Amino acid sequence: MEPQGKNLVGLSEAGAGDKSFKSYNPTLGAEIEPEFVGASSEEVDRAMQLAGEAFPVFRRKSGEERAVFLEKIADEIEAIGDPLLERCDAETGLGIPRLTGERGRTCGQLRLFASLAREGSWVDARIDTAIPDREPLPKPDARLMLMPLGPVVVFGASNFPLAFSAAGGDTASALAAGCPVVVKAHRSHAGTAELVGRAIQAAVKACSMPEGTFSMIHGDGRDVGTALVQHPITKAVGFTGSLKGGRALFDLAAARPEPIPVYAEMGSLNPVFILPGALEERGEAFAQGLCGSVTLGVGQFCTNPGLVLGLEGDSMDKFIGAAESAFGEAAPATMLNPGIRDAYEAGLETFDKTDGVALVAKSSTAVDAVATQAGAHVWTTDIDAFASNPELSEEVFGPTTLVVKCKAKNELIRAANQLEGHLTATIHGTEKDLEEHLDLVEILERKVGRIIFNGFPTGVEVCHSMHHGGPYPATSDGRSTSVGTAAIFRFTRLVCFQDFPQVGLPDELRDDNPCGIWRIVNGEQTNGAV
Ligand code: NAP
Repeated sequence: MEPQGKNLVGLSEAGAGDKSFKSYNPTLGAEIEPEFVGASSEEVDRAMQLAGEAFPVFRRKSGEERAVFLEKIADEIEAIGDPLLERCDAETGLGIPRLTGERGRTCGQLRLFASLAREGSWVDARIDTAIPDREPLPKPDARLMLMPLGPVVVFGASNFPLAFSAAGGDTASALAAGCPVVVKAHRSHAGTAELVGRAIQAAVKACSMPEGTFSMIHGDGRDVGTALVQHPITKAVGFTGSLKGGRALFDLAAARPEPIPVYAEMGSLNPVFILPGALEERGEAFAQGLCGSVTLGVGQFCTNPGLVLGLEGDSMDKFIGAAESAFGEAAPATMLNPGIRDAYEAGLETFDKTDGVALVAKSSTAVDAVATQAGAHVWTTDIDAFASNPELSEEVFGPTTLVVKCKAKNELIRAANQLEGHLTATIHGTEKDLEEHLDLVEILERKVGRIIFNGFPTGVEVCHSMHHGGPYPATSDGRSTSVGTAAIFRFTRLVCFQDFPQVGLPDELRDDNPCGIWRIVNGEQTNGAV
């Protein structure tokens, strides 16, 4: 199966825009066929109109129907087989083993959301029955549940061509909630997006979902992306990418006559604190683990540990020595595209030019520029240089990390207090270290979405209890997650039915509880009838 260079608008193909582009093979340094023509403004409008028409029908589909649909999407993606992985590898250079895992994660994610939709209790139904003779005023019958928001626009991420793209977590969670989806495909893997989009189209047909349940648009972000966010039918946006891009879309959405939520997952440095006991006990092993985490996926993870903080001294020196060897031995590897490689090199240049920052080591093997390669880097600085150079707190997307040496615990605490919002923070320590640094944990609770103990932040488990989010600027809404089943809540809103007869209530709120879901009835959790 080969991509045809088409946009997918409902069940039709489209591509009448005036701009075209080709995907790029970063490993070979060459363009790949076919040519993709962006969508015209009429086609963008048609995708949104279809989504608007689909919404009243799609939102009424039962949890079971939506579950079967999501499972069918996963089956269709798997049915593409190796051609999907081969195209994806050609467009991203991520390699077949990583992409095989990512396909598994994508399909697992779709099936997890299917199970959530099928079980149904995610709507968080609450019922307070009436007390007509309550004094001084009667209590009304109030019934509350989450309902889908409406059509959602999803911006595919460059660094997860499957798991955060056409059928990724944003799409899966929006569809599970009952929201039609229009994807703005990332140009860096347009062919992969088309193949996956066609799998979703096939599932729409097979499950008799309304035509506008899914569309996929190619083209320039500032052109079609802007039009999608500004379209009056769009009710929410999911995004993974740069702070600049996410913030621009957030501002655009806020400036609409009807502002809408933008769930943008943006940059993060993911600070790692190595506490004294752990530094002394296992500083060298920590250096190996750190290097593995920093270089995983050529550092192109939003959870990449880009900042390490610890106390200076002999143990720190040993750790730095081990990091020097590990990073020096790390082989350069192909980045997603030349734009991302160039941004990485610009970030390294900033470090290089900053007073007080020293290079500890970089990959000793020369990079192959034609193969869009980047080498691993580790740098060191002190707390004063870190505090007085705000650019050192900005994400450099790629396999690099900065070690900040502090003189004493109060400097470590000062650095923690100065952190902006991040997706994660990690603490490496012994039990005793942790007991002595509970104040650090308390600070980090206010700064990040996930705190890891004695591990590394890369590798985000997709499960019910996962949170992948964090205070601004890590995301545009730190109350939400883009990984795990709680991601569904982003695309919903609460509706309360007051004093409604049974016939007018959604099944989830009826006395007899035909869906058999867990609800809070008069303050008690139950899956029984009222
Ligand atoms: P990006 O530049 O933010 O682009 C992501 C998507 O948003 C693309 O489809 C892009 O369309 C669109 N877009 C960007 N700016 C826009 C705007 N002002 N208006 C409308 N649409 C806009 O991210 P990227 O291409 O994936 O990578 C670039 C940089 O982002 C990387 O070097 C890295 O620093 C960062 N990044 C961070 C993460 C993370 O998880 N933290 C992930 C990926 C990338 P066009 O392609 O047409 O512009």
